[in-house]
Amino acid sequence: MTLYDISLTYTEDLPTWPGDQTIQIKRISSIKDGDIANVTQLSMCAHSGTHVDAPDHFLGNGKTVEAIPLELMIGPAAVVETHAEGTITPADLITARIPTGVKRVLLKTANSEYWAAGNTAFQEDFIALNEEAAEYLVELGVEVIGVDYLSVAPFTDLEPTHKTLLEAGVLIIEGLDLSGVEPGEYILYCLPLKIGGSDGAPARVLLKR
Ligand SMILES: [Zn+2]
Repeated sequence: MTLYDISLTYTEDLPTWPGDQTIQIKRISSIKDGDIANVTQLSMCAHSGTHVDAPDHFLGNGKTVEAIPLELMIGPAAVVETHAEGTITPADLITARIPTGVKRVLLKTANSEYWAAGNTAFQEDFIALNEEAAEYLVELGVEVIGVDYLSVAPFTDLEPTHKTLLEAGVLIIEGLDLSGVEPGEYILYCLPLKIGGSDGAPARVLLKR
């Protein structure tokens, strides 16, 4: 059995969404300074690093992250590679050949190279799904979509893609690093933190082969 960690490591220089608070990881008690224990305090937006979006994020419907169905979080998944540049369209998804019947799809794009390279600047031109591609995934019966940058939707057009997926009950996982995994079939483990009333949550995400 091989396990792949496709989560980003939270560090203070991990890129965050423009306008969001940056990630702060502060040592507030330190053994080397005479305290009895090391204690770290975290401060960041719920949509930092590898995270999930709850329906409430774009729908404002009160369906927050602690209520995401557990069945979505673990199970068979396919890593599918697309060489799309800019926006991913339904034609790109057809070319990428999503295996029939797969309910959990992780899209590997050139975005993953930013993580592999340790890029610390936010990339506005990241590759993401347009509204029609989101509709296509819903028609296919996809229930979990994972992407390798900080949004499933293009930087300049966030609402339609998010709404299409969230209204259909699709779990969105963002900020995956797929640079170290080959396309193929795996078992997905995506465990978002159980934060009451939150529109999103950081998640540790693994693939098992
Ligand atoms: Zn998000």
